[in-house]
Parts: sequence; structure tokens; C-alpha cells
Amino acid sequence: MFSGNSTKNEYDVIIIGAGLAGLSAAKKFLNEGIDFLLIDASSSVGGRMKTDYIKEYQLDRGFQVLLTSYPEAQNALDYSALKLKSFDPGAIVQYGYKTYKLSDPFRKPITAVRNFRNPFTAMSDMVKIIALRNRHRRFSVKELFNEKEQATIDYLKEWNFTDKFIQSFLKPFLGGVFLDSELKVSSRFMEFVFKMFSQGYASLPEKGIQEIPNQLAKQIPKEKIKLNTKVINIEPNNVMLADGSSIKTKAIVIATNSVDANKIYPCNNKIETQTVKCIYFSTEKAPFKTASLYLNGNVSGLVNNVCIPSNVHRAYAPKNKHLISVSVIKPTQLSDLELVMAVRSELKVWFGADVEDWLHLRTYNIENALPKFETISYPEVKDIKPIGNKIFKCGDYTHDPSINGAMRSGRLIAEAVIWDLSVKI
Ligand SMILES: Cc1cc2nc3c(=O)[nH]c(=O)nc-3n(C[C@H](O)[C@H](O)[C@H](O)COP(=O)(O)OP(=O)(O)OC[C@H]3O[C@@H](n4cnc5c(N)ncnc54)[C@H](O)[C@@H]3O)c2cc1C
Repeated sequence: MFSGNSTKNEYDVIIIGAGLAGLSAAKKFLNEGIDFLLIDASSSVGGRMKTDYIKEYQLDRGFQVLLTSYPEAQNALDYSALKLKSFDPGAIVQYGYKTYKLSDPFRKPITAVRNFRNPFTAMSDMVKIIALRNRHRRFSVKELFNEKEQATIDYLKEWNFTDKFIQSFLKPFLGGVFLDSELKVSSRFMEFVFKMFSQGYASLPEKGIQEIPNQLAKQIPKEKIKLNTKVINIEPNNVMLADGSSIKTKAIVIATNSVDANKIYPCNNKIETQTVKCIYFSTEKAPFKTASLYLNGNVSGLVNNVCIPSNVHRAYAPKNKHLISVSVIKPTQLSDLELVMAVRSELKVWFGADVEDWLHLRTYNIENALPKFETISYPEVKDIKPIGNKIFKCGDYTHDPSINGAMRSGRLIAEAVIWDLSVKI
């Protein structure tokens, strides 16, 4: 799919990596009439946003959602064609042996204040959530990325959220977004995410998360995308491929993740990454009927969050079946089999003995899932500098670790390259 048979051997720009960043750069080059080729080692576009279609189940490679308020996504994507459906606002929290519903503290904090009746939320927590929401309304996204920066956990403590609220709601909720159980990620990113949650919905496309990069790829002529093609090395004006051939180019955009970028063009700025495990089960009897995010509010346990994508979009599972997605973000040395057993026994406490009958479909161990960002910025085109002679890099790790960050980084790099080519060539 999307792979052309280009025989040309010289381009204005070669983009390496057809994830969201590379696709967004390609779209910009296309619109500006720049002659480019988009190369990817994999057999399909999308990078980290892939969906496996197995026996009528749609298995996203890791639980991910599109926040409809992402500004870059709003500009670049056709939401109605994606047939987005949203998760219910708020969350269900497993606390001890009981469950509690927390209505949306981000968008409807007043209702949340009225309704909260649980042992882990104090009135002061809700008041602070309202204050935070008001603060985020006053600031633009750019302004939030320029705010004072610290680890998210320190930020939350500085705001005097109670330990119980942090442990039982904020840690599993935000930890699930950052894939960071310790909340060390930059508070700027946390503020951005908070703002996005308070202004939009967490949603899934009908055909799975990969439909997002697929939509971008459909706008790019097939002959401009070359799949199953691994780049092993680059030098100015030349891209060397694994099959021994090379392609000439005026400029190069590296749009891989940080680890692969360092292999292609070693830089010293090594960026640590987060890991996540996503375990899928199938069942005829869903443990809950809503399109809710179900959080582990306990200190113990491996499971961070559970959801039922087929409660959001029926298409995620065949008729009369449900798809259950379980995310584990805490580091674990367990084998896949041991992990499934451990997760089953934890979830039996949450959902009862039916869990024993769930069919294990697949476990995804996702290395380098997200960059670990303890410091983050919001660059503009003027801030972007080449990392070598007409060599540029983009991707979520150069911006912020989100769909929005990856897409914005790709568009901006294209603008920077176009400027560079027009001025210097
Ligand atoms: C489990 C998980 C959950 C997430 N949840 C969310 C979420 O809920 N909301 C959100 O906004 N974001 C989420 N994200 C983040 C989001 O998916 C990423 O930020 C985004 O997809 C990154 O896109 P990218 O283009 O920067 O990189 P990538 O998607 O990694 O694309 C890089 C591409 O480069 C290619 N490549 C690498 N090396 C080579 C080579 N040598 N030659 C040729 N090609 C090469 C790869 O094949 C790949 O296609 C999540 C990510 C993961 C993994």
C-alpha cells in the first residue's frame, strides 16, 4: 500500500521515515511543489501508529488516542472522514476492592466537584483542578511551553494536590499518557496535555489508529513513497540504502525516532525512551459497558489502565465479541506468559472470575515508545537549524511526544528546508 516504483535517482529532498512527522513534512513539500521522496524501512506508513487487523479485531500497537483539540491535527486531518468516536470523559478508578467513577475533572470540573464521592479525592483537589483549568485557558499552547519547567510530579506536589489524589488518579491517568509511572516528564508537556483534555475529546478512528497516518499518505502520490527501504547511512547530498544503492538529493530530512536517527547520523544528544506493554484479550461478556478509561488507583499492581476499544467503536471486535486493551507501564522482567498470568490474576480482583475465560489475543512489547522528556520546548521555524550540511531532523523527540508534536515537527522542518533551499541554492 502507498508504495510507488520510483526509478528517479535525484531529488530536492529525501525524507527518511514515513511516520506522522515524515508524512507531515511530505505533505508540506507536496503543497509547495518541492520534488521529494519519502522512504521507510517498514512495509507500511505510520511508524509507531500502526494497527494490526487480525481475525476481525483491530489491534492498535499500543493504546493510543487522538485528542481532538490538538491544533496541528485539527488543521491537517479530516476528522469526519476518520469517523472519530470518543471515550467517555472522566474515568473509572479501581481503589482497593471497590470502583469509583470520577466525572470529567478537566472539562466539567464543577460537575466533578458536585459528584465526587470517593476516598482518594479531597475538595481541595477539585478546587485545584478548576484553578489549573482556568490557568490553562488563559495561556496559549505556545505560552504553556514557555512556562517554568520541572518534573510533573514536583509540579503537582507544588500545587499541593493530596498524595492520595496524585497516587490514585493523576499518576495512572497522566502516567498512561506519558508512559511514565513516575511522572518525571516535563511539567510543560503535562500542562499542554491537561489543556488538550479540557478542550477536546480522547478519540479513536473507526478503522484503528493507523487510519490517521493512512489519511495523510492518501494525499501523497504513490510514486513519492518508497516502502521496504532501509537507509543505513547518509552524507551530504547522498542517502545510502541497505541494498547497496544510493540516491542523490539536495537536502535530507531524518524523520525517524531518536534511536534510529542516531544510527543513521550519529549525534551526541542521546534521548532516553519509555517502554510500554499492551495486552489484548477477547471476551463475549464485557466487564463494563461504557467507553471508559479504567485506572488502577492502587499503589500495587502491574496494570496501569484498561479500556474496551470495541465499546468506543464496534469495528474493533467482531460481532458478539469485545476487545479488551490492558496497558502496563511499570518496568517488569516477566516473560510474556508470566505477564498474561499476572495481569489475569490482578484483573480477577477488579472484574471477577470471568477474566479466566478471556482469550489472550496478543501482547505488544513496545520499546522506544515515547521519548523521555524532562525538558521540552516549542520551536518556531526560525529556531530550526540543520544538524549537518543540508541535513535536518524532525519527529516527536524534537518537539513533544504526541501526535500533535510529531505532525508539527514535520511541517516546521519542511518550512525550514524550503527556506534553506530557496536562500542557499
Ligand atoms: C504505545 C504508544 C502510545 C502512544 N499514545 C499516544 C497518545 O495517546 N496520544 C498521542 O498524541 N501520542 C501518542 N503516542 C505518540 C505518537 O504515536 C508518536 O509521537 C508519533 O507517532 C511519532 O511519530 P514520528 O513520525 O515522530 O516517529 P515514528 O512514528 O517512529 O516514525 C519513524 C519512521 O521511521 C522509519 N525508520 C526508522 N529507521 C529507518 C531507516 N533506517 N530507514 C528508513 N526508515 C526508517 C520507521 O519505520 C518509522 O516508520 C503513543 C506512542 C506509542 C508508541
